[in-house]
Amino acid sequence: MPKYVYSLSEGRLDLKDLLGGKGVNLAEMHHLGMPVPPSFTVTTEACNAYLAQGREPDELAQQFDEHVAALEAEFGKKLGDPEDPLLVSVRSGAKFSMPGMMETVLNIGLNDQSVQGLAKVTDKPRFAYDSYRRLLAMFGKTVLDIDGDAFEHVLDEKKHAKGTANDLDLDVEDLADIVGQFKKIIETESGAPFPQDPKQQLRDAMLAVFRSWNSERAVLYRRRERIPADLGTAVNVCAMVFGNLGMESGSGVAFTRDPATGAVGVYGDYLQNAQGEDVVAGIRNTLSLDDLSEIDKPAYDELIDIMERLESHYRDLCDIEFTVENEKLWMLQTRVGKRTAEAAFIIAVQLLDEGVIDEKEALARVTGDQLVALMFPHFDEKADREQIGKGMNASPGAATGQIAFDSQTAVELAAKGTPVILVRRETTPDDLSGMIAAEGVLTSRGGKTSHAAVVARGMGKTCVCGAEDLDIDVKRGVMRLRDGRTLRAGEIVSIDGTSGDVFLGEVAVVAPPVVRYFEGELDQDGIEADTLVHAVHRIMQIADRSARLDVRTNADTAEDAARARRFGAIGIGLCRTEHMFLGDRRAYVERLILAESTQERQSALDALMPLQKGDYLEIFEAMDGLPVTVRLLDPPLHEFLANLTDMSVRVALAEKEGGVSESDEKILAAIERLHEQNPMLGLRGVRLGLTIEGLYTMQTRAILEAVAERRQAGGDAKAEIMVPLVGAVQELEIMKEAILGVVHEVSEATGVDLSDVLIGTMIELPRAALTAGEIAEAAEFFSFGTNDLTQTTWGFSRDDVEASFFTDYLERGIFGVSPFESLDQGGVGRLVKIATKEGRESRPGLHVGVCGEHGGDPASVHFFHDAGLDYVSCSPFRVPVARLEAARAAVGAADETR
Ligand code: ADP
Ligand code: MG
Ligand code: MG
Repeated sequence: MPKYVYSLSEGRLDLKDLLGGKGVNLAEMHHLGMPVPPSFTVTTEACNAYLAQGREPDELAQQFDEHVAALEAEFGKKLGDPEDPLLVSVRSGAKFSMPGMMETVLNIGLNDQSVQGLAKVTDKPRFAYDSYRRLLAMFGKTVLDIDGDAFEHVLDEKKHAKGTANDLDLDVEDLADIVGQFKKIIETESGAPFPQDPKQQLRDAMLAVFRSWNSERAVLYRRRERIPADLGTAVNVCAMVFGNLGMESGSGVAFTRDPATGAVGVYGDYLQNAQGEDVVAGIRNTLSLDDLSEIDKPAYDELIDIMERLESHYRDLCDIEFTVENEKLWMLQTRVGKRTAEAAFIIAVQLLDEGVIDEKEALARVTGDQLVALMFPHFDEKADREQIGKGMNASPGAATGQIAFDSQTAVELAAKGTPVILVRRETTPDDLSGMIAAEGVLTSRGGKTSHAAVVARGMGKTCVCGAEDLDIDVKRGVMRLRDGRTLRAGEIVSIDGTSGDVFLGEVAVVAPPVVRYFEGELDQDGIEADTLVHAVHRIMQIADRSARLDVRTNADTAEDAARARRFGAIGIGLCRTEHMFLGDRRAYVERLILAESTQERQSALDALMPLQKGDYLEIFEAMDGLPVTVRLLDPPLHEFLANLTDMSVRVALAEKEGGVSESDEKILAAIERLHEQNPMLGLRGVRLGLTIEGLYTMQTRAILEAVAERRQAGGDAKAEIMVPLVGAVQELEIMKEAILGVVHEVSEATGVDLSDVLIGTMIELPRAALTAGEIAEAAEFFSFGTNDLTQTTWGFSRDDVEASFFTDYLERGIFGVSPFESLDQGGVGRLVKIATKEGRESRPGLHVGVCGEHGGDPASVHFFHDAGLDYVSCSPFRVPVARLEAARAAVGAADETR
């Protein structure tokens, strides 16, 4: 017979799947001898059976009744006894703490009779009616789905009529009247009177908890957090203890360390004569734990002792909920507590120093995402600043700029180098160009899943959304503030995507200390002086000792290369060469494209060669001694020409005036000739190298001459030449032969041995991945271009799909996170695994890396570690994150903490 109900003494931490987090932690406290009210837990299996069959499983009712009877026996009171009732709470509790699950119902077992019994035995009629009105509101709201405002409203009216804001000023008559009104609301709204039978109250509440597993909020939350939908929730039934019995009673929450700063020492809030969530609901000003020590020293001492024991038992910061009933302490909940990024690092190092955890565990206690949060620029807190609004902290960062109410203005201003904040009521896919151009995005509507939020996060752009205090009138081009002032386009605002704050005017930004540390701007004393920096430093030292994956960077300039090196990169995994064809050099590219003879083409290439060589010299110098992987030109050539429409208009206008220049006509013809329907799938990558004779060999020559020159000057340049977008080994073979020819020539000419220069390829097409065994016969290394590999595997054009339907896909749970942000492990990842395995089978020891931005994404880094890659490569700012996550993967830490 399935066991659906567990008593406290049967609970164990490893039954978390079955009993939920709250249930096992209650049992754990019970085993530790801490004062937990008698309780039992209904399993997640019962929940799943109920949801599957639409009714309670047969065995549940009997087991449930037996456990209620056991509670009654333990207390010596009967549920709902009219003279002296036992009351209980019904609490949801899934494996992971999940906002969106059903809220707790307290004081079950009260009805019109037992409320009088309770008043009599306690001799506290006010308390009895206070408890009853709470039951009615909670039951109405959570079990019967009645809008909670209806109850709030009655309560507010009553307080208003008494001329008070304090619930303690309501006397027993007031509360009895409220009870009457609440019962009426329930009857009108639900169509039936409040159930007077305590057994029915209990059962209804339990079933409501089961059903809440599939509430809209819960489903949404699970999708986002990638919590499996089939876990189900447990239900905890706990005998009530009362914090609302008078001033000798109260309810509190506490942390064993400060969850905001990580500071050592307990931290908490306490509220006298209060029940349940009162203490966190802001109904009255709370007291601190220090105050509790004065009010009730014995209860305080016991609480502190328990907190110490919990911390050493769980070996981590714990948060707890407790109640004092007539000077007796009761523990109602504990769990390993959530904390800020700063606190996470500080606490991990504290616990390490205290000998509570080892280095491996310290790595598991922090995440790359937390490190990212510590690296975003901050607004200077000491600066003069005026806050004008607050919204959702949708995408972190600090941005300042002129208000632009539409995308076109944003684009125009940004083109002139003016920083802008795109300010919209809400954004749509049409706003993409403006979002890209803007420093940050501010909206007055929408939450963390709004278009603005999702797209801004995807782009790493600062965003505050749903700032409701701000009345944004795009049509009139004004933003009205709460106090009636208005701001117009062009005025300056600053938005803090980490806190959601909006400020008037410019607020100074500062590089956070963690970035200054990575930049090497702090000396050892400076590191020691700042608790957070010291903690990050310690963790990074451990990380670098523990990681197996190397971390390289994607950098195309000496400046980026140097920064990445300071941030801990041990080479360049992707040096793009496109920018070496831009700016003034476009003229040469035009000549290259328009060349009508081999000679003309060669002269254009000859002109580009020394310029590129100069760029490489700088990069090799910045990365001296470390490998630099240079990717030969990848994008379609027409990207370097004028835009088709612009040029057509220009030529048409000139024709009217009768004076079209020959070169303009030629360029227009070339643009038309090179125009592609799907440039992403067109003439680019190695196809370009094979088509434009001399292009890749020119680039190769520039690279190799730079290597030779650096070496002759006593430097240690290490180059790897990477051919993009290969789909068939033949493409690479032809290119490789040409490249080897140049290697030979440059070695001969300079007398420098270049035989160590590797020639490899990107794997960024499904066909390349599936024929990796063949390709590896020619390729001396592989680098996965996971961005293109994602595009070609899914058939997505990133620029087109992200803005148009990704929000919808995310909301419908087609994927929990964009496959461009975090590697699609089942699809694209499978190709990565196949290619790595088959590549190494044909070329043992093949060096394999990743150069897509996935290399800086925590979950993806774990995947690449497991897949046996040699390195990941990411943008300079992501290097520390990748170093940390590479180490976390190596010690088997989960790719996220929940
Ligand atoms: P959540 O999952 O939101 O934390 P809880 O089940 O912990 O919800 O309950 C909400 C509040 O009710 C908490 O403050 C808790 O301490 C209190 N509470 C729950 N059960 C009891 C009980 N048996 N006696 C007294 N207070 C309780
Ligand atoms: Mg709780
Ligand atoms: Mg690519």
